[in-house]
Amino acid sequence: MPDCIFCKIIEGKLPAQKVYENKDLVAFLDIHPINPGHTLIVPKEHCRNLLDMPERLIEKTFVAAKKIAEAVQKGTNAEGINVGMNNEPASGQVVFHAHIHIIPRYNNDGLKLWPGKPYQDGQAREIQKRILAELPKEIFC
Ligand code: AMP
Ligand code: ZN
Repeated sequence: MPDCIFCKIIEGKLPAQKVYENKDLVAFLDIHPINPGHTLIVPKEHCRNLLDMPERLIEKTFVAAKKIAEAVQKGTNAEGINVGMNNEPASGQVVFHAHIHIIPRYNNDGLKLWPGKPYQDGQAREIQKRILAELPKEIFC
């Protein structure tokens, strides 16, 4: 995809500190890490984000993310790992080539969790109903 930073890294036209590569994906250090070792897992096929990734690629990318997360955790002596994906601008996505963040975390690294807020009366049931209506029945046990 022209003008896509991550496609350029995949094609070798832009530099990156790679930690893993296979035929389907590449993993490299985030240029602006939340903590040192913050790594991005990037499928080679250009997809905008999780919502338009084919299932076979989701499987390969998340299985690799788990293995790479273990290596990042050991390599950085992290006490925890955040695994996350931003999808669309409202969620914070700024690079529109799908990627999973692997972020080393420490008990006293000063980063806060997202603030939660309580549901209002009946709101959780209403949201549950709307989500259930969008999901195929066969995924429920
Ligand atoms: P997101 O908000 O999920 O789209 O995150 C995009 C991430 O890509 C940010 O954490 C950036 O620091 C990172 N990033 C942007 N350009 C580069 C680059 N050339 N090499 C490595 N990481 C990058
Ligand atoms: Zn791309």
